[in-house]
Parts: sequence; structure tokens; C-alpha cells
Amino acid sequence: MKPRILIVGGAGYIGSHTVLQLAHAEYDVVVFDNLSNGHRDAVLAGELVVGDLADRVALANLFAVHRFDAVMHFASSIQVGESMQQPARYYANNVGNTVHLIEAMIEHGVQRLIFSSTAAIFGDPIRIPIDETHPLQPVNPYGWSKSMVEQILADCDRAHGLRYVALRYFNAAGAHPDGLLGERHDPETHLIPLVLQAAAGRRTHIGIFGTDYDTPDGTCVRDYIHVQDLVDAHLRALQWLMQGKPSAAFNLGNESGFSIREVIRVAEAVTGQRVVVQNLPRRVGDPAVLVAGSSYARAALGWQPRYPNLHDIVQHAWLWEKKCTPPL
Ligand code: UDP
Repeated sequence: MKPRILIVGGAGYIGSHTVLQLAHAEYDVVVFDNLSNGHRDAVLAGELVVGDLADRVALANLFAVHRFDAVMHFASSIQVGESMQQPARYYANNVGNTVHLIEAMIEHGVQRLIFSSTAAIFGDPIRIPIDETHPLQPVNPYGWSKSMVEQILADCDRAHGLRYVALRYFNAAGAHPDGLLGERHDPETHLIPLVLQAAAGRRTHIGIFGTDYDTPDGTCVRDYIHVQDLVDAHLRALQWLMQGKPSAAFNLGNESGFSIREVIRVAEAVTGQRVVVQNLPRRVGDPAVLVAGSSYARAALGWQPRYPNLHDIVQHAWLWEKKCTPPL
């Protein structure tokens, strides 16, 4: 029998790419998603159960009907700025609802969880690259909510033998190389899709949040990691847990940083369009530089990003952008 995996948030950006890959890899997939940010038509494989982690009855039913070998948890609120304005909502969704999921797993004897964490748990880094030994010092409720869950998971491992892998994503970007899936947030807040929308003429310009950072060109530097490479890390983390290996946390990035202006230049090269830029004040809570140290994931999981080149990441995102929004 194929291993059956529950994908919470499988209708969202990274979740939907993972669902497709798991199905190709001969896993049985059940998606649980409240469709608040996800899309029904992004679930290209498996069974979709529409439900909310806040609803304990729905969760109990889900675990009563299916016997899961592992859970992947992608569902969360992800906007830093919004988390500053509505902290309680972020803690309720990202922490409270995750506790519901963990409790249901413990109750039903499901002992493997892969959790979507974030570079935001490191706050303003004290050194670059950021590896797993870097202190956790979040600077906003979003980052705190993720680091709290990592703490809860460590406690539940000790108390209940729940085995987990926390995957700390740096800047997830790109889209399925064949144009099957991509990023579809509403409203979109992420840099690469916004720059591509400007290139496509769907926006008049791209605003750059801060041009006076202590970086080579004054704009923030980020480590953009292809969504398919994140998916690959999830499959490897799943195998890690299935092999009975211990709980772990991995930082996932390409170990190289690109400034906002560099991203815009690459987008112009990929699209053949000029992108109009507006210099804006800094966005609250943005560290100047975030670059991952991922040697632990490479060594332990055998993970090797397949699309480390920013050009490929933007090229795949552009394929998706054109598919979503045909020429004007
Ligand atoms: N950014 C920007 N203009 C935008 C959106 C993002 O200048 O319209 C910047 C943002 O301040 C950050 C970088 O682009 O320095 C990446 O931001 P994004 O929201 O894509 O990801 P985050 O780093 O917040 O996870």
C-alpha cells in the first residue's frame, strides 16, 4: 500500500507544488485546506477535503476516516506587516490552529510532521550566512509564531515521540517549470510576481522598499529559492522521518543573495520589458540581508537545489505569469 500523506494547506503555493510531486512519487495524498488563500484548481492530485484547522470536529473526522503515515503542514498566515497589525489573529492561526493539528495527530497515533517554518525566526541576523546555529530572535509576530511552533514541536517530541522536520524557507520563488502551477496570492505582496506584473503591464511600476540599506546598491538582499527545490526538500525530509531518523530543523536557501535591483534587472532580461521603478521608504521589519547557510540540509538530506540560478527562477515565474494573465 502507498504511504498516505496529509497535506494541510495543499491548495496554496508551496503546498500545491508538493502535492503534485508526492503523487508522481507514488504517495497517496489527502489535502486539507480552508481555501482562504489556496485555490481548488491548484490541487492537481489526490483528494481535497475543504476544512479549517480551527474546526476540531472536522479534524477529528479527517483523522477518523484516514490512516496517515505523515503530515505536512503548509497552512499559515504569511505577511509580516499584517502580523504586526493583527498579532492575535496570527497567533491564533499559526500557533493555535497548529496545536489543534498536533493534538489530532497525537490522539490518532500519527507521529511524523513536516512543518513549514521561515527565515523570519532569525530576525535581524547577527551573521551571514544564517545556518542552524544562528540564534532565534524573531522581530515580528509572524516570525514569533513560527518559532513558537518549533518549540511546541520539540516539547511534543520529548513528551509524545512526535517526530518532526522544521524547514525554514528563505524567499520561496519561481513556479512549476512546465507552467502547471505558480504563485497566486491575493493581494500579492512578494517581490518577483509584483515585478513580473509590472513587466506585463498589469502594474504601472514596482516600488522598492528602502534604497539606503547597508548593501552594495542600497536595496535589500534576499536568498531566492525555487519552489521545486523546496518541494524536493520536503520529499527528502519525509524519507528522513520514514527511515526513523530524529527530529531536525533545516535552513533552505541557495546560499547566495540578490538585491532588489538585481532581481529587477533579471526580470527585465527574462521578459524583454523595461520595469518602471519607484523608490519608497523602508518597509518595517525588513532586515538588510538574509542569506541561508544550507550545508546541513545538503549533508543530511542530500539536498541539492536544481534551479539555483535566479534567471531560471524568474523565467519559470514568468511562464506562470503569462499563463495567468494573457497579453493585454
Ligand atoms: N519588496 C519591495 N517591493 C515590493 C515587495 C517587496 O521592495 O513591492 C522587497 C521587500 O522589502 C524585501 C524583498 O523585496 O526586501 C523581498 O520581499 P518579499 O515580500 O518578496 O519577501 P520577504 O522577504 O518579505 O519574505
